[in-house]
Amino acid sequence: MHKTREFHRQSIDDPDTFWRREAQRIHWETPFEQVLDYSNPPFARWFVGGRTNLCYNAIDRWLDTQADQPALIWVSTEVEQEIVYTRAELSREVNAAAAILKSLGVSRGDRVLIYLPMIPQAAFFMLASARIGAIHSVVFGGFAAHNLAQRIDGAQPKVVISTDAGSRGGKAIAYKPLLDQAMKQSKCAPEHVVIVDRGLIPYQAVAGRDLDYAQLRTRYLDVAVPVEWMESNDPSYVLYTSGTTGNPKGVQRDTGGYAVALCTSMDYIFGGKPGDVYFSASDIGWVVGHSYVIYGPLLNGQASVMYEGLPTRPDAAILWKIIEQYRVKALFCAPTAIRVLKKHDPALLTRHDLSCLDRIYLAGEPLDELTGRWISEALGKPVIDNYWQTETGWPILSAQPGVEEIELRFGSPSTPAYGFDVRVIDEVTGLDSGPNQKGVVAIQPPLPPGALSTIWDDDARFVHTYFESFPGRMLYSTFDWGLVDEDGYWYILGRTDDVINVAGHRLGTREIEESVNIHPAVAESAVVGVSDSTKGQVAMAFAVLRHPDDLLEAGASERLANEIKTIIEQRNGAVARPAQISFVNSLPKTRSGKVLRRAIVALCEGRDPGDLTTIEDPSALDQIRATL
Ligand code: ATP
Ligand code: MG
Repeated sequence: MHKTREFHRQSIDDPDTFWRREAQRIHWETPFEQVLDYSNPPFARWFVGGRTNLCYNAIDRWLDTQADQPALIWVSTEVEQEIVYTRAELSREVNAAAAILKSLGVSRGDRVLIYLPMIPQAAFFMLASARIGAIHSVVFGGFAAHNLAQRIDGAQPKVVISTDAGSRGGKAIAYKPLLDQAMKQSKCAPEHVVIVDRGLIPYQAVAGRDLDYAQLRTRYLDVAVPVEWMESNDPSYVLYTSGTTGNPKGVQRDTGGYAVALCTSMDYIFGGKPGDVYFSASDIGWVVGHSYVIYGPLLNGQASVMYEGLPTRPDAAILWKIIEQYRVKALFCAPTAIRVLKKHDPALLTRHDLSCLDRIYLAGEPLDELTGRWISEALGKPVIDNYWQTETGWPILSAQPGVEEIELRFGSPSTPAYGFDVRVIDEVTGLDSGPNQKGVVAIQPPLPPGALSTIWDDDARFVHTYFESFPGRMLYSTFDWGLVDEDGYWYILGRTDDVINVAGHRLGTREIEESVNIHPAVAESAVVGVSDSTKGQVAMAFAVLRHPDDLLEAGASERLANEIKTIIEQRNGAVARPAQISFVNSLPKTRSGKVLRRAIVALCEGRDPGDLTTIEDPSALDQIRATL
């Protein structure tokens, strides 16, 4: 890890030289005067005075060399359609979308709210907003009217872009009726809504308000819209965190710092070069969709695969089929997508020629050692666990094969990425923890380029939420719990909210989950801490078996539970022994694949599970309830 460490050290010791050099990766219409202005901590302003544009860097800059090469590859197994847009074709669509926005009065600094599924128009309007200096706010399609109304009031958009419906597992998911409801509930509903009519469900257009995208497109196709040059620190978008903790925060991103950081990450972390094909199977409603479906690959001159569909439909080999067909070099997805595959025929993993694929990147929630090993061995590909947050915009911890090929260790997202001065901090003393000592993962500010500039419309909340957790020190808290081993490998042990305190011993839920998952019959698990009158808290475990039929045998459930308890006692000690181990068919998860631990805890403690608008399958909670 020598080279990685040295590279990281340079970025921290001399950020000025480091980022001045890296900033040359993008086009600056006007050069910046200062690399970093940190005169008002914790607010960091990168590349001050420089003027640039995300859309120009993603599209126009590559038109000389790559006009006829694929830029956006759209695959939908939902509506059985595939469209490859070359950079020139993408440019044409984005210009048309920009002209549509301008015709509706959108200008620099205005907000555009995008409520769309994984269709190319989502990319067009994100890039079009960037082109004219408008700020986009993409709202995840799975949200209910109430969340959407909140986001509308938060952004106060000039225009909303939406559609009749999305599709999931072949079934239409209505968007338009929810939008209509949300527009009624919101205090600042905009004058115009552009509807991309997919013909999936019938709908009623609101006269005077709703405009048809196809008609507008025809009118504005081949209109060239000039690029609006933005100061590096002008906001490019607002995006809410996933809401796993029930407390979404509107992350505000800048322009120049984000472009530079993403370009570096495409190279150093994802090993991508211009012309390479990159595939991130994430929804544009989440940060991975922003950074690694749209901006990262395109800014780096790569082609991006945008996928509308499930990882298991028409069968569990669909990801591999897409990779083979489009010669994908790097795949990015959530661990949950891989865990789902464990329940399917392993022969599907080798049905396609994956010689084009270099590596698989997994992020968004803990990647247990076994799942990581299983997929890596089955495909014969390195698996890179990378750890980050909506707030940071790009990985905080990750192996960086573009810097150096290091030994990967399952269960660890390796080591800090350049630019992030990450520490493990003792919550009580506020001091740095030593090797193998657990604590809160924190970042010494200034945060690097690409990380959030503030919380939308609330600077005070930004400072208060993230920088006031530790006594006597202004550090950014990730609210995750972790440790670094003696070799410098990092481990994330769960969220600080999920840390269990059993009779004075502090345990990360992740540590116990790893042990549960070691049992060969287990596909995945969730461990939560539940209040207990004598011990303070006790652990409760919920496991999903690979083959649910295993439970049919008499006494099977008790035997399995005992075997799992033994593993936990051996690895985590007797205090970690769960009060109850239950078997369920599925875990309650957000649409982005994160286990809703807060909802499980609430049920276990007999409370209301709270806001469940992002839950994937509500019946998973009924099963949990039934085991109690
Ligand atoms: P909210 O902040 O709204 O409650 P959220 O934290 O789930 O939601 P995201 O920003 O999407 O919102 O997720 C970031 C979090 O996901 C991290 O703080 C961490 O808890 C978890 N995470 C992401 N990647 C990894 C990883 N590789 N290993 C372990 N945990 C991860
Ligand atoms: Mg969070």
